[in-house]
Amino acid sequence: MSATIIDGRAAAGRLRQRIAARTAELTKEGLIPGLAVVLVGDDPASQIYVGSKTRQAQEVGIHHFDHRLPATTTTAQLVGLVKQLNESPEVHGILVQLPLPAGINSPQVLSTIDPAKDVDGFHACNVGRLSLGEEAIVPCTPQGCMMLIKEVQPDLAGQRALVIGRSNIVGKPMAQLLLRNDCTVTIAHSRTRDLPALCQESDIVVAAIGRPKAIAGDWIRPGAIVIDVGINRVTDDNGTSRLVGDVDFANAVNRAGAITPVPGGVGPMTIACLLMNTVHAAIRARLRSGNTV
Ligand code: NDP
Repeated sequence: MSATIIDGRAAAGRLRQRIAARTAELTKEGLIPGLAVVLVGDDPASQIYVGSKTRQAQEVGIHHFDHRLPATTTTAQLVGLVKQLNESPEVHGILVQLPLPAGINSPQVLSTIDPAKDVDGFHACNVGRLSLGEEAIVPCTPQGCMMLIKEVQPDLAGQRALVIGRSNIVGKPMAQLLLRNDCTVTIAHSRTRDLPALCQESDIVVAAIGRPKAIAGDWIRPGAIVIDVGINRVTDDNGTSRLVGDVDFANAVNRAGAITPVPGGVGPMTIACLLMNTVHAAIRARLRSGNTV
């Protein structure tokens, strides 16, 4: 039996529509959500990501402030810019596109971002709040994964969830979100023993590894929900380049109950969640200022 394909493009489109409607209301009330996007250097992939983020921000009515800096920028200069953005009342969200050039101290830059404007959810304050179960700005990719899981299974209590990958931006926050939703969570990584067996006993598998088709189709428990975060560029025998996930989709689709494709699964949700985090940050800033009009 073939799995339900979880359509991330459609889900992200619906989410953007809701964000656009909310942004239009806020704008009428005099609050235009603002997102500062900082790109350092000329990494081609980062330029594409930043281009998509600013275009989509514009489409939903979020005001974006672009800061493109040369690769020669110093940590001190970048920290200085972030401090300025922290102070700007028009900026509600700050996104520093990663990876930063090798010479820049990324942790220092990220920790300078005001946690209230940290729409990527990478600041230690937000990471800590998420793990304490408090209100936090949640990293965009795991947040998008959670929404896709809930499209097919709204109640996750007691589900056995396996997160493969333990990065700070995907794996760890993903595990926290699943735990918040009452799943029994296992985190696997490169040193995990017998990954196939762990997969076979899991109702939900989130793969965030960065290795093309590393998760074989026959590892998937029949009926499981499979969320494939991986984005890997591969070249076919005929020389054609394309994107594939971390899961062997062609085989997993015959065992899973529901599965995200790559592309068109998690990817589109990530940017939509960034926009949502920005709108929520703007609303919270207005509440803090005491101006609720
Ligand atoms: P990282 O490289 O930071 O982390 C990869 C993780 O996978 C590590 O924890 C590593 O283990 C683990 N790992 C590597 N190989 C194996 C293996 N064979 N078996 C089990 N675990 C393994 O990657 P990210 O978390 O940043 O990204 C993961 C993937 O998701 C990438 O393809 C990336 O492009 C994609 N991505 C997609 C996004 C989207 O919007 N769709 C957003 C962000 C990322 P260890 O810790 O032991 O080294």
